[in-house]
Amino acid sequence: MTEVPFMNLSDCYEEVHDDIMKKINELIDNTRFIGGDEVDFFENEFAEYCNMTYCAGCANGTDALMLTLSALGIGEGDTVLTVPNTFVATAEAITNVGADIDFIDISEQYYTMDPDKLEDYLKRQNSVDNIKAVIPVHLYGQMADMEKIMEIADKYDLKVIEDAAQAHGAELNGKRPGEYSGIATFSFYPGKNLGAWGDAGAIVMDNEKTYKKVQRLTDHGRINEKYTHQIPGYNSRLDSIQAAILRIKLKYLEKWTKERIKNAEYYNKILEDKKIVRPKIKENAQHVFHLYVIRSNNRKRLQQKLSNNNISTGIHYPIPLHLQPAYNYLGYKKGDFPITEKTCNEVLSLPMWPEIKKEQLNYIGKNIK
Ligand SMILES: *Cc1c(COP(=O)(O)O)cnc(C)c1O
Repeated sequence: MTEVPFMNLSDCYEEVHDDIMKKINELIDNTRFIGGDEVDFFENEFAEYCNMTYCAGCANGTDALMLTLSALGIGEGDTVLTVPNTFVATAEAITNVGADIDFIDISEQYYTMDPDKLEDYLKRQNSVDNIKAVIPVHLYGQMADMEKIMEIADKYDLKVIEDAAQAHGAELNGKRPGEYSGIATFSFYPGKNLGAWGDAGAIVMDNEKTYKKVQRLTDHGRINEKYTHQIPGYNSRLDSIQAAILRIKLKYLEKWTKERIKNAEYYNKILEDKKIVRPKIKENAQHVFHLYVIRSNNRKRLQQKLSNNNISTGIHYPIPLHLQPAYNYLGYKKGDFPITEKTCNEVLSLPMWPEIKKEQLNYIGKNIK
């Protein structure tokens, strides 16, 4: 019986397992658990991978967003805009620093923030003084419409933070996450395109002052000082063992990304059908297919049929943030973000990981048809 999981993290172990185990043993023998070379080296290598000057590792992708907002001085009394179709972490980071949140609907074709709706929103406000930042999300592995978002943000003096938790190595017009706005945040949750063996995250930046501030915030307000704390910070460090694992895996990321893209192309070919909406790639863009998401107005039946045939799928995300109990207090109701609500009811994420086999893809294709 054929069985296809939604993702398979053990398929890539063979390639990296021995190197990683050797390195972990070395770190344990040296009792090197916090800080040290592995963290510094990974930060440098990941900054380089992103074409950015600085990288600060941290505990996870949610903290990466929160620490960035905090470093930019955003908190109580400020408003930050993001999309309603993202993982809840994007919103939590905003509200956990004490800022107000509001949402901008998405483009139906690409599922990322619609710049026209961002501009409409800003034009509708009596005052934009309290609106300090916007967080576009590079959802499923494709970058948001950064050219237009940057234009609008510059006009209204908004900071832009790119949530790139799903978009390691994605490109738009040859630029990677962070290059348009000067700042992007990443998650290395095990299932992300670059995944640790536990929780981890990072912020990449071009501005030295922001970098120093973020670095301090991750480690109790200090840099290389034991008992002098310049500002009240947090404990959100990147562990040495996770950094070492990420360094080894980073060497394979380009190859794994190419495999994801090839798998997506194969899906596109076998799923040619009027009733299925396949992912659309922006012009001059590299979609890195963290998720391969199709749409069907008969999703429930399709998902059930696949499940009956042992094919696991996912929905990213079934409940938009403005309709989540946690954000009830904002007073939004059904119909307020129509594109997000429509796509939430239709999207279906198919199995995707670099080493997924052609037979598995064919089996999925056959069952969808
Ligand atoms: C995974 C994810 C996060 C949060 O990352 P964690 O490492 O799990 O905290 C934030 N934003 C998006 C879009 C994500 O997919």
